[in-house]
Amino acid sequence: MQTLVDHHGRSFPYLRLSLTEACNYRCAYCLPDGYQANGRPVFLVLEEIRRLVRGFAALGMSKIRLTGGEPSLRKDLPAIIAAVAAVPGIRRIALTTNGCRLPRLVRGWREAGLTALNVSLDSLDAARYLDITGHDRFAEVTEGIEQALALGFEAVKINAVLLRGRNDDELPAWLDYLRERDVALRFIELMQTGENREFFERHHLRAEGLQRQLLADGWVLRPRAADAGPALEYAHPDYRGRIGVIAPYARDFCAGCNRLRVTARGDLRLCLFGNFGISLRPLLQSDDDHDALVAHIATQLGLKAAGHGLHQGLTGITPHLASIGG
Ligand code: SAM
Repeated sequence: MQTLVDHHGRSFPYLRLSLTEACNYRCAYCLPDGYQANGRPVFLVLEEIRRLVRGFAALGMSKIRLTGGEPSLRKDLPAIIAAVAAVPGIRRIALTTNGCRLPRLVRGWREAGLTALNVSLDSLDAARYLDITGHDRFAEVTEGIEQALALGFEAVKINAVLLRGRNDDELPAWLDYLRERDVALRFIELMQTGENREFFERHHLRAEGLQRQLLADGWVLRPRAADAGPALEYAHPDYRGRIGVIAPYARDFCAGCNRLRVTARGDLRLCLFGNFGISLRPLLQSDDDHDALVAHIATQLGLKAAGHGLHQGLTGITPHLASIGG
């Protein structure tokens, strides 16, 4: 079997696959005016997704994260999960969601074969949550997380984007939350995108202060698995939950990159903030193109750059994360 290794010695067990660009939320840092559909949606259909995942699995990819936009907006999500789960070699299927549909749908996703869940929850305060996301769904999301915790997922994680002046005083509330819950919280540093420059300048906060605080409070950095996401994860003997920090502006962040992305339209994106996409869709129309697809992906990986240009404010062709699958 071929494996995916780039010219910088990095290997890629982990694919983030966007299922849709559409989102029902209006997060202040992402789509503050909501998703605007541009013509008829042309997102990958189930059969194309199945072929795509088979192609990546043939290259040693074993973990798929389904994301968006908001992936739970796809009515065929359980069928997609089941199709991905049936591909030989795929061992982990994770989903990133805003969580508002969890109470109704999470059991079905688990039964279809989902192994891990990430839920976005930027604040533990319902009024702040509404203010940041534009949606009064705090109760559904937190209730959905409780349900997910009872379903035996390998991991339930919470994503919280760290925002100066909006939620950066909530560590004590999160510590209470994590004391008895087997949840991995991820604080994500706000990233600049093509459309959020002003918000970024006002609310970006480096995670280093938080990391120093965690170490001072007895949290210990855990070793990182080969197919783990980008977080540095800390644990503490007094807490069931863990705290992760995703700091894309940290030195060496890109050296640990083990992920590729495919957009909802079937473009391979070698970096979240890259300048180009590589269309895989023509090779997803027939099972006969499997070998050509595998060869094409392996060749294109040679174009993956050593690092992103975020420190220079270079956000590539990413207007916001919903467009590519954050
Ligand atoms: N709709 C799903 C959700 O809300 O989780 C999946 C897509 S969303 C783009 C994935 C994650 O990216 C969310 O946790 C969101 O908060 C985060 N995100 C979006 N824009 C971001 C930005 N500019 N900087 C950091 N994180 C961002």
